[in-house]
Amino acid sequence: MEMEMEMEMEMEIVRDLETKMEELREYYRSGKTKEASWRKSQLKGVLTFLKEREEEIFKALKQDIGKHHVEAYRDEIGILIKSVHFALKHLKKWMSIRKAELPWVAYPTTAEVVPEPLGLVLIISSWNLPFGLSLEPLIGALAAGNTVVLKPSELSPTCSSLLANALPNYLDNNAVKVIQGGAAVGEQLLEQKWDKILFTGSARVGRIVMTAAAKHLTPVNLELGGKCPAILDSFSSSWDREHAMKRILSGKYGTCAGQACIGIDYVLVEKKLASSLVESLKMLVKKMYGENPKESNSIARIINKQHFLRLKSLLDDPEVKASVVYGGSLDEDSLFIEPTILLDPPLDAAIMTDEVFGPLLPIITLKKIEDSIEFVNSKPKALALYVFTKNEKLKKRIISETSSGSVTFNDAIVQYAADTLPFGGVGESGFGKYHGKFSFDMFSHEKAVLRRNFLIDFWFRFPPWNDYKLQL
Ligand code: NAD
Repeated sequence: MEMEMEMEMEMEIVRDLETKMEELREYYRSGKTKEASWRKSQLKGVLTFLKEREEEIFKALKQDIGKHHVEAYRDEIGILIKSVHFALKHLKKWMSIRKAELPWVAYPTTAEVVPEPLGLVLIISSWNLPFGLSLEPLIGALAAGNTVVLKPSELSPTCSSLLANALPNYLDNNAVKVIQGGAAVGEQLLEQKWDKILFTGSARVGRIVMTAAAKHLTPVNLELGGKCPAILDSFSSSWDREHAMKRILSGKYGTCAGQACIGIDYVLVEKKLASSLVESLKMLVKKMYGENPKESNSIARIINKQHFLRLKSLLDDPEVKASVVYGGSLDEDSLFIEPTILLDPPLDAAIMTDEVFGPLLPIITLKKIEDSIEFVNSKPKALALYVFTKNEKLKKRIISETSSGSVTFNDAIVQYAADTLPFGGVGESGFGKYHGKFSFDMFSHEKAVLRRNFLIDFWFRFPPWNDYKLQL
């Protein structure tokens, strides 16, 4: 009986989804979404949503992940407002037709590249930046003139319900639908035919998305995760050293308590520097989060019990536990994990083979800092690689000898806010890129248009063939 009810509910979701999709497709066919004025009005709608609903966004982020409103503004609202302004400023140029050069032998021919929307696109997002990871792609999809279905994550339910209930008031509902739900709804969505899917989440579900998309030959962008290393070189100036460490801590604990795809996963450092580094890090963590970090509202909480237990199990390994040099306390009731530092946990322990995605920071020591290149290259390609150094030779080697979605020197996370840089992974951290114009391009098709007239023609281009025509 229960199973029958579940099946009926699923059928209902599918019927409703099919109706919604047909409405979205019909609206796309009307041509409305291709108008520049429509695109602008939608972008302004996103902007008004962010401004008018700021307080509710803060509350939702606090409720779901315990994010402080300063962090929420810095990582989500502020970045999104900047992205909308950037899109509004450049939209005309992005939409413009580009002349293409042709060789003189093609005369009299002209050619151009015409960007056109793809049609109906699907955005599936994650919970750690519930607004950022939903709206950043949405900005690109709307700027490019598409109709959109957005499915935020069920793990941040207050944020998802705000997106589903409030966002439609600011957008053209004929063109954008927000559908809430978890894996089952996600799977129903993946059964359908889309013109593009942008997925943000784990490699496990990324594989499911890609397999489902292959059935319909739907192009996909997979924004995945993995372990992002930070390489910390020695510094002669104490100013540089302290700032490098502060930025490392902020790149770990300061962004959703380490639950960030581009958050620092572990640090590589020369063995001789390790003990002084650990002492300095301890001091700085105390400065940031106080003597009793559980009381601090500056560090986010773990998203749910399942993730809490996953992180706890990383520490349960006796050898890993023995490597804890700072922190390590956990509170299941408040889903709190103290900022924790580990020195040289075993490299084959889960904490060093799986993505940490939480406030546990392993420090791995190496003989020479240059060995970090081999270390990084022995792992799957990271979404982000951070290198704190003033050594120009090392910087050059990092750029030319390693591969990752991005490389940031002497800071962490900040590359996410740069509209002029592509954001995306390589290898196991995903593929495809977005943000700024890259988002517009990702949700557009560049159509090749070639124009000829009948002024002249060459007789030798037509059959019947003979060897004389080959010599011409
Ligand atoms: P997840 O893969 O579990 O879920 C992501 C989304 O997929 C959610 O909306 C979820 O409801 C949906 N989903 C789950 N199962 C599905 C299924 N079977 N079919 C269709 N949809 C399904 O990942 P998560 O827990 O939300 O995020 C954590 C992972 O995401 C980490 O690996 C992290 O590094 C990565 N991540 C990447 C980025 C990025 O921008 N590259 C950003 C945030 C998180």
